[in-house]
Order: sequence, then structure tokens, then C-alpha cells
Amino acid sequence: MNVVLFGPPGAGKGTQAKELTKKYGIPHISTGDILRANVRDATELGKEAKGYMDRGELVPDTVLIGLIRNRLNEADCVDGYLLDGYPRTIPQADALDGILREIGKPLEVVINIDVSDDNLVERLSGRRTCPNCGESYHIVFNPPEKQGICNVCGSQLYQRDDDREEVIRQRLTVYNQKTKPLIDYYGKAGILVNIDGSGNVDEVFQTVSGVMDKY
Ligand code: AMP
Repeated sequence: MNVVLFGPPGAGKGTQAKELTKKYGIPHISTGDILRANVRDATELGKEAKGYMDRGELVPDTVLIGLIRNRLNEADCVDGYLLDGYPRTIPQADALDGILREIGKPLEVVINIDVSDDNLVERLSGRRTCPNCGESYHIVFNPPEKQGICNVCGSQLYQRDDDREEVIRQRLTVYNQKTKPLIDYYGKAGILVNIDGSGNVDEVFQTVSGVMDKY
């Protein structure tokens, strides 16, 4: 199953992907998670990416294309992949097309999780993330069992620097300018499925699973 989970920041892509990867047994590839792990470990890639991420801007395409090429060539992608947060620009989508042709795993479906802008700001500003395992929560809609502590690994949760209000606005602007045109791109390719992402985590999961079950 070869899938892109698409949508604006805060649509719930990461939350859904973590459940979907368990259900369907394909790896969850989140470029944001990979970049954050590199920032945390202060790798060369992390040092290069950090400034862009803190400002709510996109990390340059060349960096992301190299990263995703390496990741998709890893052994666990043999039965498919679930991409989250990539592609985010038309050049990234074109490059992905080429990479997938090379490895013989063409994209089957792009699931676009649709959520209104007001809803996104509310979701992102209340989001709390685990620095260790990447699990994410919401202080109101999806709180952890013990306040401030990750259910999965017991680490102290934090608020991502780019989940502060002024950076959220910038990320949504970047999404509208650079990423949203991909809806048209994949619509024309005939592989886009739009779903309503305004429900709770379980409701959206049922809808996304309903789409993925067809592949
Ligand atoms: P995310 O966790 O998907 O919201 O990504 C967090 C940040 O990582 C983004 O705001 C970008 O700065 C960077 N990033 C993640 N994926 C990409 C991508 N495909 N292209 C460019 N920058 C990315």
C-alpha cells in the first residue's frame, strides 16, 4: 500500500499515521519527525534545518528530496509506505514521482485531510508532543492520562517551538502558498481522495481506514 497522508499542519496527519501504521503494517515516514530527531541529535542535517523549522518555513527542497530518497530505499518500505509531511512543494512531488518510478512503487492514493483554518490554530496551539517517541496530544481534545507525561514512554511532553501562535500563522501561510497547490496536482493525476478531518481522532481514523481498505 503506497500512500501519502496530506493536509495542512494540525490536520492530524501524524496522529492518524501512528494508528494506521499499526493497522496496515507499513512504515510511517514523517519528514517532520526525521528532521526533529536530527535537530535533537545536532547532526549536520539538523543544524541546517533548525532555523527554517523555528521560523515556520520549509527546509529547502534539495535537502528533503535527498532525505526521502534514502528513506524510501530502506528495506522496511518493501510492502509500501505511509508518507506524512512530504511532499510539500511541486518540485518535491515531481522528485517523488521519479524516485517511486525508480524503485517500482508508484503512489496509489493521496488522502487529503480537510480542516478549517480556525480549527487548525486551535489544534496546533494546544498540541503537546513527546520529545522521545514523537507521540502527540492535545491539552483539551486528546489529553495524556497523566498531565504533561507521554502515555507511551513516560517522557515529559513539550510544546514544539513552531506550535507558538506567530509561527503557526506563518506555517499556514506557507501551506496555502506552496503546499496547497498539490491538491490540484494530485487531483489531476486522479489519485486524490478528500476526507473531512473535523471530527475526533477515532471518527477521522474510521474514515481514513475506509479509504485505505480499498487498496
Ligand atoms: P511537520 O512536523 O510535518 O509539521 O514539519 C515541521 C517542520 O519541518 C516544517 O514546518 C518544515 O520546516 C519542516 N519540514 C517537514 N517536512 C518538510 C518538507 N517536506 N519540506 C520542507 N520542510 C519540511
